[in-house]
Formats: sequence, C-alpha cells, structure tokens
Amino acid sequence: MAEHADRHARQRLVAGFTGPAQERLRASSALVAGCGALGCLIADQLVRAGVGRVVIVDRDVVEPSNLQRQCLFTTADVGVPKAIAARARLEAVDPSARIEAWVDSIDRESIEDYVDGIDLVFDGFDAMEPRYLLNDVCVRDGRPWVYCAAIATQARAMLVRPGGPCLRCVWPDAPPAGALGTCDTAGVLGSTVAIAAGASVALGLPILAGAEPSTPTLVSVDAAAGSWRTIAVAKDPACPCCGAGRFEWLDGDAGSGAAVLCGRNAVQIRPAVESVLDESGWLARLAHAGSFTVGQGLVRGSIDPSLSSGLALDLTVFIDGRAVVHGTSDPAIAAAVCARVLGG
Ligand SMILES: [Zn+2]
Repeated sequence: MAEHADRHARQRLVAGFTGPAQERLRASSALVAGCGALGCLIADQLVRAGVGRVVIVDRDVVEPSNLQRQCLFTTADVGVPKAIAARARLEAVDPSARIEAWVDSIDRESIEDYVDGIDLVFDGFDAMEPRYLLNDVCVRDGRPWVYCAAIATQARAMLVRPGGPCLRCVWPDAPPAGALGTCDTAGVLGSTVAIAAGASVALGLPILAGAEPSTPTLVSVDAAAGSWRTIAVAKDPACPCCGAGRFEWLDGDAGSGAAVLCGRNAVQIRPAVESVLDESGWLARLAHAGSFTVGQGLVRGSIDPSLSSGLALDLTVFIDGRAVVHGTSDPAIAAAVCARVLGG
C-alpha cells in the first residue's frame, strides 16, 4: 500500500485521482486490443498509472521497423511475439500489476472472450475493420471503449460510452478499400502516435478512476500544423449500431471476406467496401509496399518481405479493391498482409 502510495504520489495530486480514485484504478481492468505503437504507449501508461489488470492481445512479432515508435520493445525483442515482450516489460515496470498476454488475432470468433469482464477497452488497432467489430461488441454489451488512431502526422481519439454516440454515429460505414493509407504505406511519426495514445488514455483513465464520462468529443490533431481540435459528436438516431441495435460487423453481415483459392496457393480478400481508386491510384498507394506494375484493371507485384514477416508473397489488387495474395494458403496471413499494405 505504502509502495503504491509513493509510486502514484504525483498522480494523486491531480483532480479526479485523489482519495479512493487510485484504489478504483487498482481494482479496474483494461483490454489493450493490438500492441503496436498505440498499444505499447497505452499499456505503458495504464500500468504506470496503477490500473490493476491489463490484458494485451496482438498477433504479430516484433520487427526491426517497429523499434522507431513501439516503446515497450528493444532490439533484443526482435522475433518475439509482441504481447509476450510487452508483458515482460510491463511486469518489470510494476511487478504488482496483473498483466495478461495473448498471441492472437481479434476477430469475430475471438473478440467476445477478450472483452468479457473488462471495464474499458482501448483501441490499439492499425486498421478500421476491427474497430467496427469492437464498436459492435462494446455497444451491444454496454461497455465503454476508446477509439484511437494515428497515421503520418494525424492523430485521433474518442471515448465511446454506453448508449452512444458510437463509432458508426461518426463514420457510419468503413472507408472504401484503399481510401486510407496505413503506417506501412503513408508512414507515421512516433510523436503522432504519442499524441493519439496520450489523448486516448486522458479520455479513458478517468473512467477507470470512477469519473462520469465528459461531453462526447472527437479529439483530432494535426501534429504538423500544431492544430488540436475537439469536435462535438452527437448520437445519430439513425445509427445502425447504437440506434437500431444492428451489429452487422459482429454478425458477419459487414466486413471483408477471405477465401482460399483451391490449388493456387493463394487467398482472395474481398474488401468491406469497394475501392474508389483507379490503377494509378493503387500504384501510388502501393509504392512503399514493394515493386508493383499496372495491368488491365489491376496492379500486381511482390510485397516487400519486411511487410510480410519475410514471406515471399505476390499481390494482385483489382481496382474494386479485391486482392489476391499469392504464396500462401493461410487466410490469416493473407488478411494480415492486406491489412498492412491496403488498410481497411
Ligand atoms: Zn451509433
């Protein structure tokens, strides 16, 4: 107790974290869904702030290109599953914290197990599709979650409270395939990620300490321009999720589909929403993902092995956003690679 008091002495001076708030944090639980750059920073802040139980789920291993911004990992962790490396680091930060690590994808089959019993979910994803899935399951269960995103110099965060407004009140549908860049194609600065993660924890930590949610806002930061905006968001009565109670991503009515192409050692990934890009648009989007050329109604080429865990994979993207990953018959590998280089 005394050790805890000393450890959190500066935090206890801050309004909202005085008195029994610290004990409420110690009794609280958070899920960090995805442990890339955002998830590392979020989990680090939660454990240092005294959140008692932090659950980390991530399917990837640490790669050298992660070390620019993924603060829980060092050179020695390259090749180690991120969730495992993160747990080791966080247990060293605060041995009294209960850290749970799962090396797994968060998808329709697994998400309910991971959110069960969690007080607040933090979004550490690097694509939009799992965020809609998370939104569905949290709105359905009346569980708060924090949306968080960072790309290039743009950072965003929003607390989604039970009852809404929810993610689909702000963005009713997922962006078309290829409409958004990814960290692997558009890049990201460590400073941008730190802003997004900091805003996310600033919105979520008071909830775990027992505060009532503040006015619904979307925090939107352009780090290059130095602009920080808080945009009021309102519940949309026509929202299919928090309004009509339709959980289309969780039920499988929305979202992309992966199909193994028999006998071809290839997997087709169909986007949730058709692309709006043409061939030259796709060529530009994929410029940093490998070596690509334009064909009739498609672009094709080889994926940079640094983006495919060293696997030799070829990729064909049709202008409607449909993608075929050649060189694997594992839908999970194909989906992960497409999420990295195509977004969605
Ligand atoms: Zn909604």
